[in-house]
Amino acid sequence: MAEPAAARLTIDLDALAHNFQVLAREAAGAELAPVVKSDGYGLGAGPVARRLWIEGARCFFVARLAEGEALRGALGTDRPAVIYVLDGFTHGAGPRLAAAALTPILCTLPQVAAASAWAAGQHQALRCGLNIETGMNRQGLIPDEVNALVQSRGGLRGLDVELVMSHLGSATEPEDVRNNEQLARFLEVRGEFTEARSSLAASAGIFLGPAYRGDLVRPGVSLYGGGPLERPDARLRAVATLTAPILDIRNLRPGDIVGYGASVRLDRPTRVAVVAAGYADGVIRAGKAGGYAWLGGARRPLLVVNMDLLVIDIGEAPAQIGQPVELLGPNALLDDLAAAAGTVAHEVLVRLSRRAERVYLGEA
Ligand SMILES: *Cc1c(COP(=O)(O)O)cnc(C)c1O
Repeated sequence: MAEPAAARLTIDLDALAHNFQVLAREAAGAELAPVVKSDGYGLGAGPVARRLWIEGARCFFVARLAEGEALRGALGTDRPAVIYVLDGFTHGAGPRLAAAALTPILCTLPQVAAASAWAAGQHQALRCGLNIETGMNRQGLIPDEVNALVQSRGGLRGLDVELVMSHLGSATEPEDVRNNEQLARFLEVRGEFTEARSSLAASAGIFLGPAYRGDLVRPGVSLYGGGPLERPDARLRAVATLTAPILDIRNLRPGDIVGYGASVRLDRPTRVAVVAAGYADGVIRAGKAGGYAWLGGARRPLLVVNMDLLVIDIGEAPAQIGQPVELLGPNALLDDLAAAAGTVAHEVLVRLSRRAERVYLGEA
């Protein structure tokens, strides 16, 4: 491959497949249903899902209706996956859900009523899931609402509930009592739907042990290389690698100011490289302190992150103009950069922009 003249985002689908298999082993007994919302965490829901189909994935989750439609198109008729839409049966969604054969996860009473009315009009049962609110207070039917639906005649008329799910709010903190409380509330409601499959765990939940796995697990970030406990996990491989070439190398003196304002004033002679990437490519500006790039086998502190350019302290490292610097990848670790920016790996991934040239490895 010729050395790139601009930032390049390499998406390694072999690494994605590796992570899928690591999670599948960990979740032994449960089916992996990859979460590919927000265009596959910014990495391309189509290429991601097509590769995961080869690895054995047959169910996928998206958030929005439009994401489900796009995914159905990307999978095509040869890959008839179940596609769950977490937003559920939103206003007027019936025809679109039906046209793209999407399965809504109902999460409010009005949604249940609308879905039931739609099914009656179609003279056909609607396959759907139910999202149960168990302690995150974000999305889902509260257990009392579900009980009322189950007990009322016709509350769920026309609905073929094939999945009962909930979402954990503290799975990245395995000792948190909320995990146990959510599990207990979930199992109680789940017991009302013996025919349905159950799903509780996202990436972190898979690692909480067998009780949390249910029939279907919903990993997102760990498929893409983010550690389940929000720190680097050596079992997982980096899927996204962002590199950009060095544009210039400068020898700066004590007292020199680098970049805008005066926040970076050097107190010693410093050799820096100016790199052809910035926050417009997805390098988060807030992650400058504590963040690093990778060059010449070592971490190099970020001094400046501007829209198109960044400046790194390269010390004595051998370096030349045009040489690529790793800004995210197997050495500049996703979870480290997220922590430096005060955010989570999910956000770092979805901020990777379309400006960087995209290269897929291992495409199906
Ligand atoms: C985003 C999401 C997931 C995936 O979470 P990760 O932390 O990325 O594994 C699973 N379930 C629901 C309901 C989600 O919103």
